Amino acid sequence: STPVATTCAIARAAKMGLIVKSGSALEALGKLKVLALDKTGTLTEGHFQVIDVRALGQNMDLARLLHWIACIESQSSHPLAASLVAYAKLHGIAPLDKVEGFEVLAGEGVCGVISGHTVHIGNERLARRFSWTEDDALEPALMESWRNQGWSISWVGQDENLAGIFCAGDPLRVEAQEFVQIMKRCGVHLVMLTGDSLAAATMTQKKLGELEVHAQLFPQDKVDILSRIKTRLGCTGMVGDGINDAPALAVADVGIAMGVAGSAVAMETADVALMTNDLRQLAAAVKLGRRVRWKIW
Ligand code: ADP
Ligand code: MG
Repeated sequence: STPVATTCAIARAAKMGLIVKSGSALEALGKLKVLALDKTGTLTEGHFQVIDVRALGQNMDLARLLHWIACIESQSSHPLAASLVAYAKLHGIAPLDKVEGFEVLAGEGVCGVISGHTVHIGNERLARRFSWTEDDALEPALMESWRNQGWSISWVGQDENLAGIFCAGDPLRVEAQEFVQIMKRCGVHLVMLTGDSLAAATMTQKKLGELEVHAQLFPQDKVDILSRIKTRLGCTGMVGDGINDAPALAVADVGIAMGVAGSAVAMETADVALMTNDLRQLAAAVKLGRRVRWKIW
């Protein structure tokens, strides 16, 4: 049987828009030593804005590149995808060509075949696999300025040749900084786990203050890092939104899913669901868990 204080606390959490699925989940929140956070969609809004798109190579122009990007991305559910389709539309380009064999390449990006051409879209890891380098891309100063502004940079390939490059930004959640401060005052160590590049991750870190960062991770890397942290530091929570976060949510002592626009898989795996997507509510739940723990209800 669940003690009255726990039941009351769970009811109060529900009023704040937090579904705490069990008494032990609340207890874990109260004992939290470490909180790991996914970046895209968790610390950030998960709504990208496309900043710049450049076509590269002799047989590629911007209209063709945008058309291909729109066709491929209309198949994807990654937060980047919708913003790219919208950007193409803004430039009068609708995704009309048929995409065959669309595939998600874990930790790298996406690919598919359009009118006999294999099109890849993805991050640095993808670029490295095809040996595309920045020297093949844009003037170094432009790449540098994209990086310095913290934009996520993506690469586009046509039949294994570099065909274009673009950058996009995903703003931090408005409450992210305040949340980090509150958790720090609670003595909770924060760790960011992201599939994004180290450059983009470091920019986010700079805006948020002290935060351990692990970038360019595959879903399995998130699981491995989390298990190690758990062993080393004790009670560990994990907040995420994506299908790719589900394995890490399952490994954590308390898995927390972003409810609005988060994936169903993450919601099912998690012990706590944040229905408002407001990180401050999560901080409130940690405090609630502590009060129940110290019986100062
Ligand atoms: P994350 O949730 O951290 O973005 P993912 O595993 O979903 O992690 O993706 C890893 C990386 O692959 C992303 O950071 C992005 O760079 C790239 N990526 C994934 N999907 C797409 C897509 N549809 N278009 C372009 N890049 C993508
Ligand atoms: Mg995510």
